[in-house]
Amino acid sequence: VYDRQPLIAGNWKMNLDHAEGVALVQKLAWTLDDAKNFDHARVQVAVFPPATDLRSVQTLVAGDKLKLAYGGQDLSDQDSGAFTGDISGAFLKKLDCAFVLVGHSERRTIHGESDELCARKVAAAYRHGLTPILCVGEGLEVRQAGTHVDYTLEQLRGSLAGVSAEDAASLVVAYEPVWAIGTGEVAGPEDAQEMSAAIRAELERLYGEETARKVRILYGGSVKAANAAAILAERDVDGVLVGGASLKAEEFANIARFE
Ligand code: PEP
Repeated sequence: VYDRQPLIAGNWKMNLDHAEGVALVQKLAWTLDDAKNFDHARVQVAVFPPATDLRSVQTLVAGDKLKLAYGGQDLSDQDSGAFTGDISGAFLKKLDCAFVLVGHSERRTIHGESDELCARKVAAAYRHGLTPILCVGEGLEVRQAGTHVDYTLEQLRGSLAGVSAEDAASLVVAYEPVWAIGTGEVAGPEDAQEMSAAIRAELERLYGEETARKVRILYGGSVKAANAAAILAERDVDGVLVGGASLKAEEFANIARFE
């Protein structure tokens, strides 16, 4: 197995007030470091707070005071201009974000984001030196029809249109079956592995084996401390993207200590 660093990512969505967000970042770092044996070089932990909290997270983490990575939950496909309410990759980069989520199912569903727009957002992320975490995954009807692999790979291809092999080497893909997000319904480890292997094979077709081996593939959908280890033990699963359970420091820290 290629030496891919596991990534444990927490998507806070539109939750917590500012003081709660600041407290959560601090408590998470303390909880991880309390364990003494937490090896930050081995497992990367990242949080995705609301954009209005990023400046404070930057201050808390600055100079490696806390060993956490962080990123934005979304970015504009544009760099600047008359785009009221949007946040550019340049803004996120100035806040020292390492990552940005692209095409989360809530953006795709609630805001109607297409694969074409996601591809432009992935390009914008790379333009500004951010690592995109591209989210893909099928809804319940597609899963029930048994066409989930084809559906998800089509989303993947569409959302990566125009991305070079060089850029793709640092890509992170999050497979998040929509029916498992926030529902308590978790895909089995074998489902996560099936899709992750299919995604890696598709990346190999698109970019070659060397690049495909480097891409980290995460699973997301009702991940908790109780089910994380089994999912993370799968060969092609390199991390998890966690929603609800990332709002509790202890629970999220336990996911990060998945062994
Ligand atoms: C998510 O929003 O990316 C997610 C996986 O949410 P949850 O863990 O709450 O299902």
